[in-house]
Amino acid sequence: MSEVNIKENLATVNENIKIACEKAQRDISEVTLISVSKTKPVEMIEEAINAGATIFGENKAQEMRDKSLVLPDNIEWHFIGHLQTNKVKYVVGTAALIHSVDSLHLAEAISKESVKKDVISNILIEVNVAQEESKFGLTLKNAEDEIRKIALLPNIKIKGLMTIAPYTENPESNRIFFKKLRELKVDIEGKNIDNIDMSVLSMGMTGDYMVAIEEGATYIRVGTGIFGERNYN
Ligand SMILES: *Cc1c(COP(=O)(O)O)cnc(C)c1O
Repeated sequence: MSEVNIKENLATVNENIKIACEKAQRDISEVTLISVSKTKPVEMIEEAINAGATIFGENKAQEMRDKSLVLPDNIEWHFIGHLQTNKVKYVVGTAALIHSVDSLHLAEAISKESVKKDVISNILIEVNVAQEESKFGLTLKNAEDEIRKIALLPNIKIKGLMTIAPYTENPESNRIFFKKLRELKVDIEGKNIDNIDMSVLSMGMTGDYMVAIEEGATYIRVGTGIFGERNYN
């Protein structure tokens, strides 16, 4: 057992999801929790699996592939980090959903590898709503044009949008970014573009997932709140 009580943390997050859904008058079945296990050892993931978690998020391609090889096949892996084209081979065929497609160039590489492996890759388009210099993603302005091009690529299925909001002590300050991502989703949905499904909104992390749910998140990505602080040393 690790020092962190993963089972208890998961119960708390699930309770908070319920509270946020009630407040927003949403059905809890609309919100899916991704346990972000990046940097954490396989033993901790096993603990989370024993406590009922089934979907894990990773931000390093090889780390996700390596973990997937030693953990049960019924686990769903979601790739949430910046992906370099030379690492695409580790992710295509492993990830059930790639949340972080931030360029046409990357989408082309994913498409090519998916054709090669004869699989369909489900992807989300990452939008840097808050326009942070340090973050990747399309802009609110260019997203639609890029999405139209990405939608034409073979063996790729666009499922929706993702954003990473700024780190903040005050989750309310991120509400505007979640709202804007949802507005973009509704806007693009209304255009009925072929091969584009806009049903997924991946937004909200440990510090702000309740606000994200109130603003329409369908996937929330929670790491610290489940596995404790990360140690990058
Ligand atoms: C690390 C990470 C998370 C989880 O962050 P916490 O604050 O620990 O919940 C969520 N999304 C992305 C893209 C991440 O890289």
